[in-house]
Amino acid sequence: MKTFKELDLIAPVQRALVEENYETPTPIQAQTIPAALSGHDILGCAQTGTGKTAAFALPILNQLGQHNRKSAPGRPFALVLAPTRELAIQIGDSFAAYSRHLRLRHVLVYGGVSQGNQVRALNRGAHIIVATPGRLLDLMNQGHIKLEQLEVFVLDEADRMLDMGFMPDLKRIISKLPDERQSLFFSATMAPKISELAQTLLKNPVSVNVTPESKSVKKIKQELMYVERNGKLPLLKKILSTPDVDRALVFMRTKRTANMLSQQLVRFGIKATAIHGNKSQGARQRALEAFRSKQVQVLVATDVAARGIDIDGITHVINFDLPLEPEAYVHRIGRTGRAGAEGIAISFCSDSERGELRAIEKQIGQKVPRSKDQPKLEPKDRRPAPESRTRKEKEKTGRRSGSKVFTQRTTRRSKRTVAGEDKPKQQGQKNTKWRRLKKPAKQTS
Ligand code: AMP
Repeated sequence: MKTFKELDLIAPVQRALVEENYETPTPIQAQTIPAALSGHDILGCAQTGTGKTAAFALPILNQLGQHNRKSAPGRPFALVLAPTRELAIQIGDSFAAYSRHLRLRHVLVYGGVSQGNQVRALNRGAHIIVATPGRLLDLMNQGHIKLEQLEVFVLDEADRMLDMGFMPDLKRIISKLPDERQSLFFSATMAPKISELAQTLLKNPVSVNVTPESKSVKKIKQELMYVERNGKLPLLKKILSTPDVDRALVFMRTKRTANMLSQQLVRFGIKATAIHGNKSQGARQRALEAFRSKQVQVLVATDVAARGIDIDGITHVINFDLPLEPEAYVHRIGRTGRAGAEGIAISFCSDSERGELRAIEKQIGQKVPRSKDQPKLEPKDRRPAPESRTRKEKEKTGRRSGSKVFTQRTTRRSKRTVAGEDKPKQQGQKNTKWRRLKKPAKQTS
């Protein structure tokens, strides 16, 4: 199969895809859509960024769009469960985009905001509900949502659901699903617990597996720049001022430094904002929207807040700090170069972060290529990672230049060098010049 036109999708969905400029289905879509259209359950192993939202949203819209059914208050035909509200909102956006020529209502249900608006929206009718587990259960318990006429159930990012402790909630929700249904199950990893959960949910599923993100990072142009902590901000400013940086996502380790950095950038006249877990849901959404609509050029994020950020056209991901968890590197750089678009990920590495760099390179199974634009290091920053010094270089530069260039032990060693003691000493040889340096008074006498 080559294009969406060759898929058996109804005309209003095809039209929306043309408007979205989708031509070729991604591998997960190419494998999932035909099987789901023919009513099979799906067990999909795929990460965010592979196009999996459309892989489940398009068959649902296709099925619901064929019937002209009215939606009943709080009684959906399709339910999509996602681990976070950010992801739920993004899935909702995708449904809105792909269903723009259909008369289908989807309602978002997630925590962290008051339930009033959500209940009112449900009462107006919902063909599709996109929900996070906690709030969904709340509203089910209050009788606002009933699942008896559900036809399709989607569990997205199952592994993250379990990581986030949603298993008990999930079990309660699953116990309320009608037996007669189609289930689509997606997870980035398939640990034994996930497979167990999948088995309880799925009947004769079609398994779909796309290259895990850790392998597909090869598609993203990665660069590494050695720079000490105090050189990072000037370097970031320089990179951000180059014309090809349209939209940059900058990663920091902590909420505090993310805030500080975005404020500093703003002071330099760069349009930036921060997103992290201490911000309210509203503030996070505003930050994402500002970034999406290009009101700001730079979004400074922490790992947790950035999970599931799905914004097209992020030209640069910049790791201001290397992540402590090597897996986070893969998630971070996966925010650029989405769905085949070109993207570049630049990582700053200071002397103290070389351990993290090694862990990352082990995780991705390759070296992060050193940047051709590696800035000239200030004397105090001149300490590249040892692996970048080849044996030949070491032999060429020797200990003496090592002391001058690489280690900053300027006092005694460079005094020795200045005094001309640059050859390795023979055993037993007296260090006369050294003594002279120590006792300059004798020299003049
Ligand atoms: P997802 O993995 O669902 O989060 O999708 C990642 C990004 O790829 C989203 O921004 C989608 O809009 C985009 N996308 C999904 N499918 C396609 C496609 N077939 N062609 C182009 N872009 C796509």
